[in-house]
Amino acid sequence: MTCDFLSLAQPGVQKLSPYVPGKPVEELAREFGLRPQDIVKLASNENPLGPSPRVIEAIKAALAEMTRYPDGNGFALKSALSERLGVSPAMITLGNGSNDILELITRAFVGPQHEVVFSQHAFAVYPIVTQAVGARAVVVPARDWGHDLEAMAAAITPATRLVFIANPNNPTGTWIDAAALEAFLARVPEQVIVVLDEAYTEYVENGEVPNGMDYLARYPNLLVSRTFSKAYGLAALRVGYAVCQPAIADAMNRVRQPFNVNSLALAAAVATLADADYLAASCKVNREGMAQLEAGFAALGLSWIPSRGNFIAVDLGREASGIYQALLRQGVIVRPVGNYEMPNHLRVSIGLAQENQRFLDVLGQVLARE
Ligand SMILES: *Cc1c(COP(=O)(O)O)cnc(C)c1O
Repeated sequence: MTCDFLSLAQPGVQKLSPYVPGKPVEELAREFGLRPQDIVKLASNENPLGPSPRVIEAIKAALAEMTRYPDGNGFALKSALSERLGVSPAMITLGNGSNDILELITRAFVGPQHEVVFSQHAFAVYPIVTQAVGARAVVVPARDWGHDLEAMAAAITPATRLVFIANPNNPTGTWIDAAALEAFLARVPEQVIVVLDEAYTEYVENGEVPNGMDYLARYPNLLVSRTFSKAYGLAALRVGYAVCQPAIADAMNRVRQPFNVNSLALAAAVATLADADYLAASCKVNREGMAQLEAGFAALGLSWIPSRGNFIAVDLGREASGIYQALLRQGVIVRPVGNYEMPNHLRVSIGLAQENQRFLDVLGQVLARE
């Protein structure tokens, strides 16, 4: 008889379900006999523009050095970020995607005797990193789909080491304003680290969502996490970063794999960061696409959760999984969010105008039929 190895995994790990990614285009093409070029994927909050041309050039130039280990300290990228953000390089930690950052901060500070606080409907990686280290996840009920910061502050106990806040949050798109964030930070005990996950911050306009960088000097227990996967268009390469006090960065560095960000990703991140036109184009496509989808949902009589990310959660008013499957058969991939306790919603990433239109057309047909 073979050993039941899963029963030997940490108790928290046994209770976890693995992260479910958006369905890849190639997989759907194989399953339904569709042509990849006929498939629209609006399922993983990816940048629909393709990479900046400067990224392609930078990667070509970096290819020749592929036999060398990457710069484990990421000097060039940290310098560029330091200048851009106005913080010292000692406050920056690079990650293999910002998911790596979320894991590093948890592994460095949280053990089985600790608690980690986050919101219902919050990003799926928070329970994964929490339970992987054997800690207790304290999930605070959401208010109007968003984080209830007062309830989250009240959920902090002497065992709490970490609080995760996503602003804006994925998959709801909800956001926290400056006053609410400030009031929360002022209430959190100084030894509890607040991870402010700002994966979508570059899309934010008119300052209606606060910038975590503005709070770092006043709150030494704050860590701001960001990514190159969304507005900067590098999801496949895996680059993210944290900005926090050097002492917290020091602890993360001790558990970090020495070469966690590869050299092509480092070169690409430096290049895309310097391309202001690309970022402006990303934001424009997002702004226009968001308006297009909202208008389309309104025309279909559907409601949605207002979003400040590059995606929007639409309420189908009924169980969404059948509609999701019907969309797949028509070559449209979106994201069901039943695993986020949102069984009636679908999360749709903002695509190019023609992709958004194709999705709306197919959704209209499917809703009329199903
Ligand atoms: C997409 C996303 C990330 C980014 O993940 P990467 O590992 O950087 O690709 C982080 N947090 C949230 C809330 C996200 O939606």
